[in-house]
Amino acid sequence: MNKSKVWHRLNPSQQSVINRIQAECPVKLGAIAQEFGLVVKLATLTANISGQIKESDGVVNIKINRHDVKTRQRYTLAHEIAHFLLHRELLGDGITDDVLYRSSQSTAIEREADSLAADIIMPMNHVERLIKKHSADKKGELLYEAVAEELDVSPTALKNRLDWN
Ligand SMILES: [Zn+2]
Repeated sequence: MNKSKVWHRLNPSQQSVINRIQAECPVKLGAIAQEFGLVVKLATLTANISGQIKESDGVVNIKINRHDVKTRQRYTLAHEIAHFLLHRELLGDGITDDVLYRSSQSTAIEREADSLAADIIMPMNHVERLIKKHSADKKGELLYEAVAEELDVSPTALKNRLDWN
């Protein structure tokens, strides 16, 4: 199903939770977060910060910048869920992602989170179905926009996704 390399680091039960919720489009990220017991809050963060994830007393809290546009907030949530699934051991100190999804962690760590975020928020079966649907009457930018809108992501996120596959 065109999932990235990091997808295969998830255990079977994590994969099946995500696969089940991905039956619906756009993908309900809040439902995924809830299944994994994550506490998600919109918060007033500094303008150059998109999100944060931190574990304390066994609870994993995710904060999303309330001033970002909705598609960006969704991408941030997918990225933080990816950190939870891939980088649990780093969450005690917390990870703070800036607008470019860079943090004090290495570029490799951030790339892994971005790859899994794309798997979560833009499943290729939906992407391919929507491209087919909309390419009947749209092409170029308009096609990207129509597909991105149905996935509830930004056209830029979708373009990045397609470059990776
Ligand atoms: Zn990150």
